[in-house]
Formats: sequence, structure tokens, C-alpha cells
Amino acid sequence: METFACVDCRQLKPVHASGGTGYARLGDRDPSETNHFVCYDCANVRERADMATADRFVAYLASDGRTITSWPGGPLATVTSERTRRVGFGGCRVYVRAMSPDGVKWYGNGPGRGMFVRLRRLGAKTLKRL
Ligand SMILES: [Zn+2]
Repeated sequence: METFACVDCRQLKPVHASGGTGYARLGDRDPSETNHFVCYDCANVRERADMATADRFVAYLASDGRTITSWPGGPLATVTSERTRRVGFGGCRVYVRAMSPDGVKWYGNGPGRGMFVRLRRLGAKTLKRL
């Protein structure tokens, strides 16, 4: 396969030979989308739309620790604080707070930079507990 048709923007795009493929294969969330492809740009749009309505969201902490990104690398939120704590034997856990462009604050943690972070929306209730 050298090109794929994005199901969202309807553009025919080239499959990348190195690095990421340039597309995602859908179907894991909605079986009716099986074997549909979506380009990284549209995947980022989908991730942002999902995050806007989610209370919990799994994303990635950029390797510089400044940005929360979607899996294709599109920026989702700006990291406002990052703290690393040692856990267990030689393990580390990174705790982050971030703000998405819609003004929503998030907090969460993950194994480190360049890895996933599990985020939770910081709402009125959670603010009281922290
Ligand atoms: Zn697209």
C-alpha cells in the first residue's frame, strides 16, 4: 500500500516509509470503522474532540516534558508543572499538571517523558481534595 484515503478529510495521502506510517487504522472503538484509515492530522482532531468531553484521558508526555500530546504527536495541552518521584525499587513516576487550550486543567501521572500519562480533569470537586 502506497497511499491511503483518510475517512475524515477524504484526502488521498502517502504512506510514510519511515517513522510513523502516517495513518491510523480505525475499528478498535467503533467496529463499523474497521479497515477505515485516518491521517495523523485528523487523528489529532479526533483526540482533541475526545479529550474535550472526557474526564479521564490517556495521552503522552512529550520528551521535553513541556507538552501533552496525542499518540501521533499533536499537542493537546501545555504542561504547567512536572514532578518526578521515586517509587519502589529504582522506579520513577512523573506527576504532571497541564492545561488544554479550552482552559481545562488536568492532572495525572505516568512512567516518564516520552511515555503515556493517564490524565484526569481537574474539576471543582477534585480541587478541594488537592
Ligand atoms: Zn485526514
